Amino acid sequence: PYDVLIVGGGPAGAAAAIYAARKGIRTGIVAERFGGQTLDTMAIENFISVQETEGPKFAVALEQHVKAYDVDIMNLQRAEKLTQQDGLHQVQLASGATLKAKAVILATGARWREMNVPGEKEYRNRGVAYCPHCDGPLFKGKRVAVVGGGNSGVEAAIDLAGIVQHVTLLEFADQLKADAVLQRKLHSLPNVTVITNARTTEVHGDGKKVNAISYEDRVSGSLNKVELEGVFVQIGLVPNTEWLKGTLELSRHGEIQTNAHGQTSVPGVFAAGDVTTVPYKQIVIAVGEGAKSALGAFDYLIRQ
Ligand code: FAD
Repeated sequence: PYDVLIVGGGPAGAAAAIYAARKGIRTGIVAERFGGQTLDTMAIENFISVQETEGPKFAVALEQHVKAYDVDIMNLQRAEKLTQQDGLHQVQLASGATLKAKAVILATGARWREMNVPGEKEYRNRGVAYCPHCDGPLFKGKRVAVVGGGNSGVEAAIDLAGIVQHVTLLEFADQLKADAVLQRKLHSLPNVTVITNARTTEVHGDGKKVNAISYEDRVSGSLNKVELEGVFVQIGLVPNTEWLKGTLELSRHGEIQTNAHGQTSVPGVFAAGDVTTVPYKQIVIAVGEGAKSALGAFDYLIRQ
């Protein structure tokens, strides 16, 4: 069996693999797509010490760094089940294989919920964005929409209002769902327009970049078009934990609950990165959490 088996090959999983391997323990990493969300990212400008890089380049660097160590990399493999037997954890793969380990680190990340309207996919990274901390500065002085009036949407609108020229917040329901204090702050800002009962219908562009968004007024049925340069989709971040339901403690949003050492509710099972309850889903944070979870797992192993 492995001493540590990591599930997920994004920033969190890669960091966990390097930290585990550097302890000289038997380490394996299973990933459906090595690199994770960074494969879908254009520019990365907030990974401290790297002024600017591109997502796919960053993903290759992650894998190269892991490959510099004695780690079994099992790429293009999906984990489907986690069980315990005879004091070992077992991870069952879609291929039918079962991997055994004394400790497991779950780093399966998350995915942004998409609007599924025409134009969204075509203009992803060309005006359609999902992360205000990442891409906000690209829209300095421009006009943007934020889709979603929950806490993350309203936080994004407040954040972006300080950078961009104007923010249009579109909420599907008849009122915002964000905390009252956030809504008060939002309504105090001069360059934000809030539109409720708005069903986003299409993202428009000129073939290269976004130039407008359309929405239907759900009360009157009228179709409206707002000219702008950016659309931030904030309708939820979904953790990749469907395969873990019932095995360990998840938050009501489906995120894995961890303690300060990355330990989950199951002894010997750790978790790190976007898949957990740790706030602020960012590469630099996932990397730190991955390192922490491997150190947590190592501490656990030496006590066995
Ligand atoms: P992920 O990157 O999601 O990796 C999860 C890994 O688990 C992947 O390898 C995946 O294939 C694998 N996996 C999932 N399920 C299974 C399974 N069942 N079995 C096996 N493997 C599985 N952050 C920044 O800091 N700066 C940015 O500029 C930035 N821009 C972004 C732009 C976009 C478009 C997106 C989508 C995100 C961006 N982020 C950015 C966020 C950042 O990418 C994430 O916070 C970070 O990748 C999280 O790392 P992670 O390792 O926790 O998860």
